[in-house]
Amino acid sequence: MSSTDGLVRYPADVAARYRAAGAWGTRSLAAEFRAVAERVPEREAVVAPDGRLTYRELDERADRLALGLTELGLRPGGRVVLQIGNRLMSVVAWYGLLKAGLVPICSLPAHREHEISGVNRKTGAVAHLVEAGGRFDLVEFALQQRIGVPLTIGAADGPNRLEDLVDRSDPGVARAVVDRIQARIHPDEVAVFQLSGGTTGVPKVIPRLHAEYWYNARAYAEASGWDETTRNGHLIPVIHNAGIVCGVHAPHSVGGCTLLTSPVLDEALPMLAAERVTDVLFGHGHYGAVGHPVFTQLVPSLRRVVLSGAKVPLPLFEALEGHGLWSGQLFGMGEGFFALSGSGAPREARLTTVGTPISALDEFRVLDPSSEKELPDGEVGELACRGPYTLRGYFDAPDVNAVAFTSDGFYRTGDLVAVRTFGGERAISVEGRIKDVINRGGEKISAEEVEVLLLRHPGIREAAIVAMPDERLGERSCAYLVPSGGRLTLPDLQEHLAGLGVAKFKWPERLEWVSSLPKTAVGKLDKKLLHRQIAAKLSEE
Ligand code: AMP
Repeated sequence: MSSTDGLVRYPADVAARYRAAGAWGTRSLAAEFRAVAERVPEREAVVAPDGRLTYRELDERADRLALGLTELGLRPGGRVVLQIGNRLMSVVAWYGLLKAGLVPICSLPAHREHEISGVNRKTGAVAHLVEAGGRFDLVEFALQQRIGVPLTIGAADGPNRLEDLVDRSDPGVARAVVDRIQARIHPDEVAVFQLSGGTTGVPKVIPRLHAEYWYNARAYAEASGWDETTRNGHLIPVIHNAGIVCGVHAPHSVGGCTLLTSPVLDEALPMLAAERVTDVLFGHGHYGAVGHPVFTQLVPSLRRVVLSGAKVPLPLFEALEGHGLWSGQLFGMGEGFFALSGSGAPREARLTTVGTPISALDEFRVLDPSSEKELPDGEVGELACRGPYTLRGYFDAPDVNAVAFTSDGFYRTGDLVAVRTFGGERAISVEGRIKDVINRGGEKISAEEVEVLLLRHPGIREAAIVAMPDERLGERSCAYLVPSGGRLTLPDLQEHLAGLGVAKFKWPERLEWVSSLPKTAVGKLDKKLLHRQIAAKLSEE
Protein backbone atom coordinates (compact mmCIF):
# COMPACT_ATOMS: atom_id res chain seq x y z
CA MET A 1 0.00 0.00 0.00
CA SER A 2 2.26 2.76 -1.22
CA SER A 3 1.22 6.31 -0.60
CA THR A 4 3.90 8.49 -2.15
CA ASP A 5 1.34 10.58 -4.05
CA GLY A 6 -1.26 10.77 -1.28
CA LEU A 7 -3.09 7.78 -2.69
CA VAL A 8 -3.41 4.56 -0.69
CA ARG A 9 -3.57 1.86 -3.31
CA TYR A 10 -5.34 -1.47 -3.14
CA PRO A 11 -2.72 -4.19 -2.57
CA ALA A 12 -1.66 -5.56 -5.97
CA ASP A 13 -2.87 -9.11 -5.27
CA VAL A 14 -6.27 -7.80 -4.17
CA ALA A 15 -6.60 -5.60 -7.26
CA ALA A 16 -5.67 -8.60 -9.42
CA ARG A 17 -8.33 -10.68 -7.68
CA TYR A 18 -11.04 -8.05 -8.27
CA ARG A 19 -10.02 -7.86 -11.90
CA ALA A 20 -9.87 -11.63 -12.38
CA ALA A 21 -13.34 -11.89 -10.85
CA GLY A 22 -14.65 -9.52 -13.52
CA ALA A 23 -15.47 -6.72 -11.09
CA TRP A 24 -12.81 -4.30 -12.24
CA GLY A 25 -12.52 -3.57 -15.92
CA THR A 26 -9.58 -2.29 -17.91
CA ARG A 27 -11.10 0.98 -19.13
CA SER A 28 -11.42 4.51 -17.82
CA LEU A 29 -14.85 5.86 -16.81
CA ALA A 30 -15.08 7.83 -20.05
CA ALA A 31 -14.17 4.76 -22.10
CA GLU A 32 -16.79 2.68 -20.27
CA PHE A 33 -19.40 5.31 -21.10
CA ARG A 34 -18.26 5.42 -24.73
CA ALA A 35 -18.61 1.63 -25.02
CA VAL A 36 -22.24 1.83 -23.88
CA ALA A 37 -22.92 4.84 -26.11
CA GLU A 38 -21.67 2.86 -29.10
CA ARG A 39 -23.93 -0.05 -28.17
CA VAL A 40 -27.14 2.00 -27.73
CA PRO A 41 -26.51 5.31 -29.56
CA GLU A 42 -30.15 6.16 -30.19
CA ARG A 43 -31.45 5.39 -26.72
CA GLU A 44 -32.15 8.23 -24.37
CA ALA A 45 -29.30 8.78 -21.89
CA VAL A 46 -30.55 11.75 -19.90
CA VAL A 47 -33.69 13.79 -19.46
CA ALA A 48 -33.51 16.94 -17.35
CA PRO A 49 -35.84 19.90 -16.84
CA ASP A 50 -33.89 21.79 -19.51
CA GLY A 51 -33.66 19.16 -22.23
CA ARG A 52 -32.86 15.60 -23.24
CA LEU A 53 -29.98 13.79 -24.97
CA THR A 54 -29.49 10.39 -26.56
CA TYR A 55 -26.29 8.47 -25.88
CA ARG A 56 -24.90 9.59 -29.23
CA GLU A 57 -25.66 13.23 -28.49
CA LEU A 58 -24.32 13.11 -24.94
CA ASP A 59 -21.15 11.33 -26.06
CA GLU A 60 -20.53 13.85 -28.84
CA ARG A 61 -21.24 16.91 -26.70
CA ALA A 62 -18.99 15.64 -23.95
CA ASP A 63 -16.21 15.04 -26.52
CA ARG A 64 -16.58 18.59 -27.80
CA LEU A 65 -16.54 19.98 -24.28
CA ALA A 66 -13.38 18.00 -23.55
CA LEU A 67 -11.70 19.60 -26.55
CA GLY A 68 -12.82 23.05 -25.38
CA LEU A 69 -11.41 22.38 -21.91
CA THR A 70 -8.14 21.20 -23.42
CA GLU A 71 -7.94 24.36 -25.52
CA LEU A 72 -8.23 26.39 -22.31
CA GLY A 73 -4.95 24.78 -21.28
CA LEU A 74 -6.46 22.27 -18.84
CA ARG A 75 -4.34 19.13 -18.83
CA PRO A 76 -5.12 15.51 -17.83
CA GLY A 77 -4.79 14.93 -14.10
CA GLY A 78 -5.87 18.50 -13.25
CA ARG A 79 -8.52 18.74 -10.54
CA VAL A 80 -11.68 20.75 -11.00
CA VAL A 81 -13.97 21.96 -8.20
CA LEU A 82 -17.65 21.51 -9.14
CA GLN A 83 -20.57 23.56 -7.82
CA ILE A 84 -23.39 22.62 -10.17
CA GLY A 85 -26.94 21.28 -9.79
CA ASN A 86 -29.37 18.90 -11.49
CA ARG A 87 -29.46 20.07 -15.08
CA LEU A 88 -28.66 18.65 -18.49
CA MET A 89 -25.35 20.47 -18.84
CA SER A 90 -24.14 18.99 -15.54
CA VAL A 91 -24.16 15.53 -17.09
CA VAL A 92 -22.40 16.83 -20.22
CA ALA A 93 -19.89 18.57 -17.93
CA TRP A 94 -19.33 15.39 -15.92
CA TYR A 95 -18.41 13.26 -18.92
CA GLY A 96 -16.65 16.17 -20.65
CA LEU A 97 -14.30 16.62 -17.69
CA LEU A 98 -13.63 12.88 -17.51
CA LYS A 99 -13.01 12.73 -21.26
CA ALA A 100 -10.47 15.55 -20.91
CA GLY A 101 -8.75 13.45 -18.23
CA LEU A 102 -9.66 16.02 -15.60
CA VAL A 103 -10.62 14.95 -12.07
CA PRO A 104 -13.95 16.35 -10.84
CA ILE A 105 -14.11 17.29 -7.15
CA CYS A 106 -17.68 16.88 -5.92
CA SER A 107 -18.27 20.06 -3.95
CA LEU A 108 -21.81 21.36 -3.50
CA PRO A 109 -23.41 24.55 -4.84
CA ALA A 110 -24.12 25.35 -1.16
CA HIS A 111 -20.43 25.43 -0.28
CA ARG A 112 -18.85 28.81 0.40
CA GLU A 113 -15.38 30.19 0.95
CA HIS A 114 -14.69 28.15 4.09
CA GLU A 115 -15.39 24.85 2.31
CA ILE A 116 -14.06 25.71 -1.15
CA SER A 117 -10.79 27.11 0.12
CA GLY A 118 -10.38 23.98 2.28
CA VAL A 119 -10.98 21.73 -0.72
CA ASN A 120 -8.57 23.74 -2.80
CA ARG A 121 -5.86 23.64 -0.14
CA LYS A 122 -6.11 19.87 -0.05
CA THR A 123 -6.35 19.17 -3.76
CA GLY A 124 -4.71 22.10 -5.58
CA ALA A 125 -7.48 22.52 -8.13
CA VAL A 126 -6.78 23.96 -11.59
CA ALA A 127 -10.33 25.09 -12.39
CA HIS A 128 -13.62 25.92 -10.69
CA LEU A 129 -16.90 25.10 -12.43
CA VAL A 130 -20.05 26.86 -11.21
CA GLU A 131 -23.57 27.34 -12.46
CA ALA A 132 -25.41 30.63 -12.80
CA GLY A 133 -29.01 31.30 -11.93
CA GLY A 134 -29.25 30.44 -8.24
CA ARG A 135 -30.11 32.93 -5.50
CA PHE A 136 -26.42 33.17 -4.63
CA ASP A 137 -24.15 34.44 -7.40
CA LEU A 138 -21.77 31.51 -7.81
CA VAL A 139 -20.19 33.07 -10.91
CA GLU A 140 -19.10 36.12 -8.93
CA PHE A 141 -18.03 33.79 -6.12
CA ALA A 142 -15.82 31.76 -8.48
CA LEU A 143 -14.19 34.93 -9.74
CA GLN A 144 -13.40 35.96 -6.17
CA GLN A 145 -12.05 32.53 -5.23
CA ARG A 146 -9.50 32.65 -8.07
CA ILE A 147 -9.05 28.89 -8.27
CA GLY A 148 -7.31 28.43 -11.60
CA VAL A 149 -9.60 28.75 -14.60
CA PRO A 150 -13.21 29.79 -13.87
CA LEU A 151 -15.78 27.77 -15.85
CA THR A 152 -19.51 28.47 -15.99
CA ILE A 153 -22.80 26.84 -16.92
CA GLY A 154 -25.95 28.83 -17.71
CA ALA A 155 -24.35 32.26 -17.39
CA ALA A 156 -25.40 34.87 -19.95
CA ASP A 157 -21.95 36.43 -20.05
CA GLY A 158 -19.88 34.41 -17.57
CA PRO A 159 -16.29 33.42 -18.25
CA ASN A 160 -15.62 30.20 -20.21
CA ARG A 161 -19.23 29.16 -20.71
CA LEU A 162 -19.35 25.41 -21.19
CA GLU A 163 -22.12 25.92 -23.74
CA ASP A 164 -19.66 27.93 -25.89
CA LEU A 165 -16.87 25.39 -25.43
CA VAL A 166 -19.19 22.70 -26.82
CA ASP A 167 -20.49 24.86 -29.67
CA ARG A 168 -17.15 25.93 -31.01
CA SER A 169 -15.50 22.49 -31.05
CA ASP A 170 -15.40 20.30 -34.11
CA PRO A 171 -16.75 16.80 -33.28
CA GLY A 172 -14.14 14.93 -35.34
CA VAL A 173 -11.19 16.80 -33.87
CA ALA A 174 -12.73 16.45 -30.39
CA ARG A 175 -13.07 12.71 -30.69
CA ALA A 176 -9.46 12.27 -31.78
CA VAL A 177 -8.22 14.39 -28.87
CA VAL A 178 -10.37 12.47 -26.38
CA ASP A 179 -9.18 9.12 -27.74
CA ARG A 180 -5.57 10.22 -27.32
CA ILE A 181 -6.14 11.35 -23.74
CA GLN A 182 -8.12 8.26 -22.74
CA ALA A 183 -5.54 5.86 -24.17
CA ARG A 184 -3.08 7.10 -21.53
CA ILE A 185 -5.35 6.68 -18.51
CA HIS A 186 -4.78 3.64 -16.33
CA PRO A 187 -8.02 2.21 -14.87
CA ASP A 188 -6.58 2.21 -11.35
CA GLU A 189 -5.81 5.93 -11.37
CA VAL A 190 -7.90 8.54 -9.55
CA ALA A 191 -10.94 9.52 -11.62
CA VAL A 192 -12.99 11.53 -9.15
CA PHE A 193 -12.66 13.07 -5.71
CA GLN A 194 -15.67 12.75 -3.42
CA LEU A 195 -15.72 14.69 -0.15
CA SER A 196 -16.50 13.68 3.38
CA GLY A 197 -16.86 16.19 6.20
CA GLY A 198 -13.65 16.95 8.05
CA THR A 199 -13.40 18.37 11.52
CA THR A 200 -11.23 21.41 10.96
CA GLY A 201 -12.47 22.87 7.70
CA VAL A 202 -10.22 20.70 5.57
CA PRO A 203 -12.46 17.96 4.18
CA LYS A 204 -11.54 14.34 4.00
CA VAL A 205 -11.03 13.62 0.33
CA ILE A 206 -12.14 10.25 -1.05
CA PRO A 207 -10.26 9.13 -4.15
CA ARG A 208 -12.45 7.15 -6.53
CA LEU A 209 -10.59 5.19 -9.18
CA HIS A 210 -11.84 4.55 -12.71
CA ALA A 211 -12.34 0.79 -12.55
CA GLU A 212 -13.68 0.53 -9.03
CA TYR A 213 -16.04 3.50 -9.43
CA TRP A 214 -17.62 2.13 -12.60
CA TYR A 215 -17.93 -1.25 -10.88
CA ASN A 216 -19.71 0.40 -7.92
CA ALA A 217 -22.34 1.65 -10.37
CA ARG A 218 -22.52 -1.58 -12.36
CA ALA A 219 -23.00 -3.59 -9.16
CA TYR A 220 -25.79 -1.22 -8.09
CA ALA A 221 -27.51 -1.56 -11.48
CA GLU A 222 -27.17 -5.34 -11.36
CA ALA A 223 -28.47 -5.57 -7.80
CA SER A 224 -31.42 -3.42 -8.92
CA GLY A 225 -32.15 -5.64 -11.92
CA TRP A 226 -31.70 -2.75 -14.35
CA ASP A 227 -31.40 -2.87 -18.13
CA GLU A 228 -31.86 -0.61 -21.15
CA THR A 229 -35.51 -0.03 -20.31
CA THR A 230 -34.69 1.50 -16.92
CA ARG A 231 -35.69 5.12 -16.50
CA ASN A 232 -34.33 6.11 -13.12
CA GLY A 233 -35.62 9.21 -11.36
CA HIS A 234 -33.10 11.22 -9.36
CA LEU A 235 -34.18 14.19 -7.22
CA ILE A 236 -31.23 14.58 -4.87
CA PRO A 237 -28.07 16.51 -5.83
CA VAL A 238 -26.37 14.79 -8.73
CA ILE A 239 -22.81 15.91 -7.97
CA HIS A 240 -22.61 13.75 -4.89
CA ASN A 241 -21.74 10.10 -4.51
CA ALA A 242 -25.30 8.77 -4.62
CA GLY A 243 -26.00 11.14 -7.51
CA ILE A 244 -23.10 9.96 -9.61
CA VAL A 245 -23.34 6.26 -8.75
CA CYS A 246 -27.12 5.73 -8.61
CA GLY A 247 -28.25 8.67 -10.72
CA VAL A 248 -25.73 8.74 -13.58
CA HIS A 249 -23.23 5.89 -13.89
CA ALA A 250 -25.56 3.05 -12.87
CA PRO A 251 -28.28 3.76 -15.44
CA HIS A 252 -25.56 4.43 -18.01
CA SER A 253 -23.75 1.19 -17.24
CA VAL A 254 -26.75 -0.70 -18.65
CA GLY A 255 -27.86 1.70 -21.40
CA GLY A 256 -30.75 3.06 -19.35
CA CYS A 257 -31.87 6.63 -18.91
CA THR A 258 -31.37 9.03 -16.04
CA LEU A 259 -34.30 11.34 -15.28
CA LEU A 260 -32.58 14.16 -13.51
CA THR A 261 -34.98 16.44 -11.74
CA SER A 262 -35.52 19.03 -9.05
CA PRO A 263 -35.68 18.28 -5.33
CA VAL A 264 -39.03 20.09 -5.23
CA LEU A 265 -41.78 17.46 -5.43
CA ASP A 266 -44.22 19.80 -7.22
CA GLU A 267 -41.70 20.04 -10.05
CA ALA A 268 -40.16 16.56 -9.89
CA LEU A 269 -43.24 14.34 -9.73
CA PRO A 270 -45.04 15.69 -12.84
CA MET A 271 -41.78 15.32 -14.80
CA LEU A 272 -41.23 11.74 -13.57
CA ALA A 273 -44.84 10.83 -14.43
CA ALA A 274 -44.59 12.33 -17.93
CA GLU A 275 -41.25 10.56 -18.50
CA ARG A 276 -42.57 7.15 -17.41
CA VAL A 277 -40.16 6.65 -14.54
CA THR A 278 -39.48 2.98 -13.73
CA ASP A 279 -37.24 3.36 -10.66
CA VAL A 280 -36.79 6.12 -8.15
CA LEU A 281 -34.55 6.85 -5.19
CA PHE A 282 -36.13 8.92 -2.44
CA GLY A 283 -33.94 10.45 0.25
CA HIS A 284 -35.48 11.22 3.62
CA GLY A 285 -36.54 14.69 2.44
CA HIS A 286 -38.76 13.01 -0.16
CA TYR A 287 -40.48 10.43 2.03
CA GLY A 288 -43.59 12.65 1.67
CA ALA A 289 -43.74 11.97 -2.08
CA VAL A 290 -46.17 9.09 -1.71
CA GLY A 291 -48.76 11.44 -0.18
CA HIS A 292 -48.39 13.97 -3.00
CA PRO A 293 -51.44 14.26 -5.29
CA VAL A 294 -49.31 13.59 -8.40
CA PHE A 295 -47.73 10.40 -7.01
CA THR A 296 -50.52 8.15 -8.35
CA GLN A 297 -49.55 9.25 -11.86
CA LEU A 298 -46.11 7.64 -11.38
CA VAL A 299 -47.55 4.30 -10.36
CA PRO A 300 -48.39 2.83 -13.81
CA SER A 301 -44.73 2.88 -14.96
CA LEU A 302 -43.00 2.56 -11.59
CA ARG A 303 -41.38 -0.77 -10.71
CA ARG A 304 -39.19 0.00 -7.72
CA VAL A 305 -39.00 2.64 -5.00
CA VAL A 306 -35.72 2.80 -3.07
CA LEU A 307 -35.66 4.72 0.20
CA SER A 308 -32.48 5.96 1.80
CA GLY A 309 -31.10 8.06 4.59
CA ALA A 310 -33.29 7.32 7.58
CA LYS A 311 -35.46 4.62 9.15
CA VAL A 312 -38.46 3.84 6.97
CA PRO A 313 -41.75 4.54 8.77
CA LEU A 314 -44.28 1.70 8.55
CA PRO A 315 -47.08 3.96 7.17
CA LEU A 316 -44.83 4.97 4.26
CA PHE A 317 -44.00 1.36 3.50
CA GLU A 318 -47.69 0.42 3.70
CA ALA A 319 -48.70 3.33 1.48
CA LEU A 320 -46.27 2.11 -1.21
CA GLU A 321 -47.60 -1.43 -0.82
CA GLY A 322 -51.09 0.01 -1.15
CA HIS A 323 -50.09 1.21 -4.62
CA GLY A 324 -48.79 -2.27 -5.40
CA LEU A 325 -45.19 -1.03 -5.44
CA TRP A 326 -42.03 -2.87 -4.46
CA SER A 327 -40.00 -0.83 -2.03
CA GLY A 328 -36.67 -1.37 -0.37
CA GLN A 329 -33.78 0.50 1.21
CA LEU A 330 -30.32 1.67 0.24
CA PHE A 331 -27.41 2.42 2.54
CA GLY A 332 -24.36 3.91 0.94
CA MET A 333 -21.45 6.25 1.38
CA GLY A 334 -18.93 8.26 -0.60
CA GLU A 335 -16.23 5.96 0.80
CA GLY A 336 -17.72 3.06 -1.16
CA PHE A 337 -19.76 0.27 0.46
CA PHE A 338 -23.42 -0.03 -0.55
CA ALA A 339 -26.12 -2.25 0.91
CA LEU A 340 -29.47 -2.62 -0.84
CA SER A 341 -32.63 -4.59 -0.20
CA GLY A 342 -32.62 -7.67 -2.40
CA SER A 343 -35.37 -7.78 -5.01
CA GLY A 344 -36.64 -11.04 -3.56
CA ALA A 345 -36.05 -10.16 0.08
CA PRO A 346 -38.98 -10.76 2.42
CA ARG A 347 -41.17 -7.79 3.35
CA GLU A 348 -39.86 -7.67 6.92
CA ALA A 349 -36.25 -7.46 5.68
CA ARG A 350 -37.08 -4.63 3.25
CA LEU A 351 -38.96 -2.74 5.96
CA THR A 352 -36.51 -3.09 8.83
CA THR A 353 -33.05 -3.38 7.25
CA VAL A 354 -30.99 -1.73 4.54
CA GLY A 355 -30.41 -5.11 2.94
CA THR A 356 -27.24 -6.84 1.89
CA PRO A 357 -24.01 -5.69 0.18
CA ILE A 358 -24.46 -5.14 -3.56
CA SER A 359 -21.37 -7.15 -4.53
CA ALA A 360 -20.51 -10.75 -3.70
CA LEU A 361 -16.95 -9.46 -3.22
CA ASP A 362 -17.98 -7.00 -0.48
CA GLU A 363 -16.91 -7.96 3.03
CA PHE A 364 -18.26 -6.46 6.22
CA ARG A 365 -17.84 -6.90 9.94
CA VAL A 366 -19.65 -5.58 12.98
CA LEU A 367 -16.96 -4.51 15.43
CA ASP A 368 -16.73 -3.51 19.02
CA PRO A 369 -16.29 0.26 18.52
CA SER A 370 -13.21 0.41 20.73
CA SER A 371 -11.33 -2.58 19.30
CA GLU A 372 -11.16 -4.89 16.31
CA LYS A 373 -13.20 -7.56 18.05
CA GLU A 374 -16.05 -8.88 15.91
CA LEU A 375 -19.48 -9.05 17.49
CA PRO A 376 -21.97 -11.85 16.95
CA ASP A 377 -25.02 -11.35 14.70
CA GLY A 378 -27.78 -9.44 16.47
CA GLU A 379 -25.43 -7.30 18.55
CA VAL A 380 -25.02 -3.60 17.80
CA GLY A 381 -21.53 -2.50 16.81
CA GLU A 382 -19.58 -0.43 14.33
CA LEU A 383 -19.88 -1.35 10.67
CA ALA A 384 -16.51 -1.92 9.02
CA CYS A 385 -16.21 -2.83 5.36
CA ARG A 386 -13.75 -3.76 2.67
CA GLY A 387 -14.27 -4.65 -0.95
CA PRO A 388 -13.94 -3.91 -4.65
CA TYR A 389 -15.19 -0.32 -4.45
CA THR A 390 -14.45 0.70 -0.84
CA LEU A 391 -11.52 3.04 -0.32
CA ARG A 392 -8.24 1.93 1.23
CA GLY A 393 -7.39 5.39 2.53
CA TYR A 394 -8.45 9.01 2.32
CA PHE A 395 -6.33 11.10 -0.01
CA ASP A 396 -3.25 12.60 1.64
CA ALA A 397 -4.48 11.98 5.19
CA PRO A 398 -2.15 9.56 7.01
CA ASP A 399 -3.33 10.64 10.48
CA VAL A 400 -6.99 10.09 9.67
CA ASN A 401 -6.18 6.82 7.91
CA ALA A 402 -4.34 5.52 10.95
CA VAL A 403 -7.62 5.38 12.88
CA ALA A 404 -10.23 5.04 10.11
CA PHE A 405 -9.14 1.55 9.06
CA THR A 406 -8.57 -1.76 10.80
CA SER A 407 -5.15 -3.34 10.67
CA ASP A 408 -6.35 -5.45 7.72
CA GLY A 409 -7.84 -2.61 5.68
CA PHE A 410 -11.52 -2.56 6.67
CA TYR A 411 -12.94 0.98 6.64
CA ARG A 412 -14.52 1.86 10.00
CA THR A 413 -17.71 3.66 9.00
CA GLY A 414 -18.70 5.20 12.35
CA ASP A 415 -22.19 3.77 11.74
CA LEU A 416 -23.78 1.49 14.33
CA VAL A 417 -25.47 -1.55 12.87
CA ALA A 418 -26.63 -5.04 13.74
CA VAL A 419 -26.96 -8.09 11.52
CA ARG A 420 -30.44 -9.58 11.25
CA THR A 421 -30.87 -12.91 9.53
CA PHE A 422 -33.71 -13.72 7.15
CA GLY A 423 -33.68 -17.22 5.77
CA GLY A 424 -29.90 -17.40 5.67
CA GLU A 425 -29.43 -13.83 4.34
CA ARG A 426 -27.48 -11.58 6.70
CA ALA A 427 -29.09 -8.16 6.32
CA ILE A 428 -27.84 -4.96 7.92
CA SER A 429 -29.98 -2.94 10.29
CA VAL A 430 -28.83 0.65 10.95
CA GLU A 431 -29.00 1.39 14.67
CA GLY A 432 -27.28 4.75 15.05
CA ARG A 433 -23.78 6.11 14.75
CA ILE A 434 -20.73 6.94 16.78
CA LYS A 435 -19.33 9.57 14.44
CA ASP A 436 -20.19 13.09 15.52
CA VAL A 437 -22.17 14.29 12.50
CA ILE A 438 -25.60 15.71 11.86
CA ASN A 439 -27.38 14.24 8.83
CA ARG A 440 -29.42 17.19 7.57
CA GLY A 441 -31.53 15.82 4.75
CA GLY A 442 -28.56 13.82 3.46
CA GLU A 443 -25.98 16.59 3.86
CA LYS A 444 -23.57 15.70 6.62
CA ILE A 445 -22.46 18.37 9.09
CA SER A 446 -19.40 17.69 11.21
CA ALA A 447 -20.28 18.84 14.73
CA GLU A 448 -16.67 19.49 15.66
CA GLU A 449 -16.08 21.64 12.59
CA VAL A 450 -18.98 23.94 13.53
CA GLU A 451 -18.03 23.97 17.22
CA VAL A 452 -14.53 25.17 16.37
CA LEU A 453 -15.99 27.93 14.19
CA LEU A 454 -18.42 29.00 16.92
CA LEU A 455 -15.63 29.20 19.49
CA ARG A 456 -13.98 31.84 17.34
CA HIS A 457 -16.75 34.19 18.52
CA PRO A 458 -15.68 36.08 21.65
CA GLY A 459 -19.17 35.71 23.15
CA ILE A 460 -18.96 31.89 23.28
CA ARG A 461 -16.98 30.01 25.90
CA GLU A 462 -18.09 26.45 25.16
CA ALA A 463 -20.11 24.95 22.31
CA ALA A 464 -21.67 21.60 21.51
CA ILE A 465 -23.55 20.87 18.30
CA VAL A 466 -26.13 18.11 18.49
CA ALA A 467 -28.71 16.69 16.10
CA MET A 468 -32.34 17.53 16.80
CA PRO A 469 -35.05 15.46 15.16
CA ASP A 470 -36.85 17.08 12.25
CA GLU A 471 -39.90 15.79 10.42
CA ARG A 472 -38.80 16.85 6.93
CA LEU A 473 -35.00 16.71 6.99
CA GLY A 474 -34.54 13.93 9.52
CA GLU A 475 -32.15 16.05 11.59
CA ARG A 476 -31.19 19.68 12.03
CA SER A 477 -28.43 21.08 14.18
CA CYS A 478 -28.90 22.64 17.57
CA ALA A 479 -26.10 24.52 19.38
CA TYR A 480 -25.75 24.19 23.15
CA LEU A 481 -23.67 27.18 24.22
CA VAL A 482 -22.01 28.51 27.32
CA PRO A 483 -21.77 32.31 27.02
CA SER A 484 -18.70 34.28 27.96
CA GLY A 485 -20.66 37.51 28.31
CA GLY A 486 -24.13 38.52 27.19
CA ARG A 487 -26.25 36.05 25.24
CA LEU A 488 -26.06 36.26 21.49
CA THR A 489 -29.07 35.71 19.27
CA LEU A 490 -29.38 33.16 16.47
CA PRO A 491 -28.97 35.93 13.84
CA ASP A 492 -25.76 37.07 15.63
CA LEU A 493 -24.36 33.57 15.29
CA GLN A 494 -25.47 33.21 11.72
CA GLU A 495 -23.79 36.50 10.90
CA HIS A 496 -20.62 35.20 12.56
CA LEU A 497 -20.66 32.01 10.46
CA ALA A 498 -21.57 33.91 7.29
CA GLY A 499 -18.59 36.17 7.99
CA LEU A 500 -16.37 33.09 8.12
CA GLY A 501 -17.76 31.95 4.76
CA VAL A 502 -19.42 28.82 6.11
CA ALA A 503 -22.10 27.04 4.03
CA LYS A 504 -25.57 27.87 5.29
CA PHE A 505 -26.71 24.26 5.79
CA LYS A 506 -24.13 24.00 8.58
CA TRP A 507 -25.48 26.96 10.54
CA PRO A 508 -27.19 25.93 13.81
CA GLU A 509 -30.94 26.34 13.60
CA ARG A 510 -31.58 26.59 17.30
CA LEU A 511 -29.64 27.82 20.35
CA GLU A 512 -29.82 26.53 23.89
CA TRP A 513 -27.89 28.60 26.45
CA VAL A 514 -26.57 26.71 29.44
CA SER A 515 -24.24 27.58 32.31
CA SER A 516 -22.11 24.50 31.66
CA LEU A 517 -22.08 21.51 29.34
CA PRO A 518 -22.85 18.10 30.90
CA LYS A 519 -19.96 15.68 31.31
CA THR A 520 -19.89 11.89 31.53
CA ALA A 521 -18.36 10.06 34.48
CA VAL A 522 -14.98 10.14 32.74
CA GLY A 523 -15.23 13.88 32.14
CA LYS A 524 -16.13 13.78 28.44
CA LEU A 525 -18.82 15.96 26.94
CA ASP A 526 -22.12 14.06 27.28
CA LYS A 527 -23.70 14.61 23.87
CA LYS A 528 -26.09 11.70 24.30
CA LEU A 529 -27.69 13.55 27.21
CA LEU A 530 -27.96 16.79 25.20
CA HIS A 531 -29.47 14.85 22.33
CA ARG A 532 -32.10 13.33 24.63
CA GLN A 533 -32.78 16.73 26.20
CA ILE A 534 -33.42 18.53 22.94
CA ALA A 535 -35.56 15.68 21.58
CA ALA A 536 -37.69 15.76 24.77
CA LYS A 537 -37.98 19.54 24.67
CA LEU A 538 -39.06 19.50 21.02
CA SER A 539 -41.71 16.86 21.61
CA GLU A 540 -43.10 18.94 24.53
CA GLU A 541 -43.22 22.02 22.32
P1 AMP B 1 -22.40 10.11 2.28
O1 AMP B 1 -20.97 9.74 2.14
O2 AMP B 1 -22.66 11.58 2.32
O3 AMP B 1 -23.27 9.39 1.28
O4 AMP B 1 -22.88 9.62 3.72
C1 AMP B 1 -22.75 8.29 4.13
C2 AMP B 1 -23.38 8.12 5.48
O5 AMP B 1 -24.79 8.40 5.41
C3 AMP B 1 -23.31 6.73 6.03
O6 AMP B 1 -22.06 6.45 6.62
C4 AMP B 1 -24.44 6.76 7.05
O7 AMP B 1 -24.05 7.41 8.23
C5 AMP B 1 -25.48 7.61 6.35
N1 AMP B 1 -26.47 6.78 5.63
C6 AMP B 1 -26.44 6.42 4.34
N2 AMP B 1 -27.49 5.66 4.02
C7 AMP B 1 -28.23 5.53 5.14
C8 AMP B 1 -29.45 4.85 5.48
N3 AMP B 1 -30.15 4.16 4.56
N4 AMP B 1 -29.89 4.93 6.75
C9 AMP B 1 -29.20 5.64 7.67
N5 AMP B 1 -28.05 6.30 7.42
C10 AMP B 1 -27.57 6.24 6.17
